[in-house]
Amino acid sequence: MNEIIRDLDTEMQKMKVIDTHEHLPPEEEIISTNADIFTRIYCQYSMTSVVSAGFGYDYDVLKNPEIPLEERWNMFKPYLWAIKDTGYARAAQIAARDLYDIEDINDHTYRLLSERIKEATSPGLYDRILKKKCNIEKILNQGTWVDNETGYSVPVCRDFMHLSYLNESWMRSIYEDLKEKHGGDFNRAKELVDFWLRETRRNGSVGVKFNAGLPTDVIEDAEAQSIFERFRNGKADEKEMSCFGIWIMHKVIESAPEHNLVVAIHCGLNWRCWADFVSLNPTSVVPLLIKYKNTVFDLYHGGIPWVREMAVIGNQYPNANLNLVWCHQISPYMTVQMLNEWIDLVPANKILGFGGDSGSSPEKTYGALALARENIARALVVRISRGEMTEERALDLCKAWFYDNPKRIYGC
Ligand SMILES: [Zn+2]
Repeated sequence: MNEIIRDLDTEMQKMKVIDTHEHLPPEEEIISTNADIFTRIYCQYSMTSVVSAGFGYDYDVLKNPEIPLEERWNMFKPYLWAIKDTGYARAAQIAARDLYDIEDINDHTYRLLSERIKEATSPGLYDRILKKKCNIEKILNQGTWVDNETGYSVPVCRDFMHLSYLNESWMRSIYEDLKEKHGGDFNRAKELVDFWLRETRRNGSVGVKFNAGLPTDVIEDAEAQSIFERFRNGKADEKEMSCFGIWIMHKVIESAPEHNLVVAIHCGLNWRCWADFVSLNPTSVVPLLIKYKNTVFDLYHGGIPWVREMAVIGNQYPNANLNLVWCHQISPYMTVQMLNEWIDLVPANKILGFGGDSGSSPEKTYGALALARENIARALVVRISRGEMTEERALDLCKAWFYDNPKRIYGC
């Protein structure tokens, strides 16, 4: 590794990190689950590559502790050759190397690696990896791990993201729940949305999550109010409920700043095979950016593969922040390449540098973070070696991306 890259990487390791996006469950859940190479190292994203390579089984089969580890390894092994150099697998291998001292995962080491993971799986696992090894100060989490006591895991709320599929019975359960908390009925639909957002904030959320491609056609407030009234009388039909759900989504995006909530939007590819990623093009968000100018947006995943569209979005809309969550492992090469284009186009106070996006493994957060530091160092060294940037300025950017920007944008 080039000396400047190593220097930058070493300096970054000393920096505190705000991890902008995970899906982690409570530690107890991880500890009580079978701990081995398929629940903690080759899991989640690297398994997407395995399925894409032709693995014909439901990949959860590899997590099944009732099947002997050797048998599972033999099912997996034919695909390892194909996925070994993918970004997802690299994050996994870095975790195995740095946390469990296994340089190469192969026939001779998979068992030892699983034993070491098992040994390490005891209370304090999160502290040891996330706090000590990763230097993460706070995690914005969309998983089931809520940590109101210390505030280490801060929720980002997913309640609103699928409301375009709202139906009568779903709305009934939302309505009854909110009515009870409210201590009475809501006269206006907008009153219900405002109360819902207040509750969201009261539960500690700092953001609300959506997907790109959410419908931009929305009914007027008066029409939403009359659907709300028909719903209360049990007379709203399916089409009306979906329109009402979309109206709620728009009201949430519009009202988010009043409640100090950031609107986070998934842009770009999916984590699993066979889903349609085309609708997740970040340009679909542009009408929302223009319409809701006071709302603070956090656009995820570099919009991969639409990284240049994303750069222009960051350039054109003051309310759009760009988040590198997950990019570092989706494609380290694409991320390194795009970062210099982003630096050309996007003000440095609008880039969020890291999120692990891990659903079940703190080790994968570590692997993704190690890749993040390396990618960022590799991007910045290009400018340093051309004499366009000093090392000091480069480290300023790193600190802003890993810590200052997410802290300021989310107020956490
Ligand atoms: Zn995610």
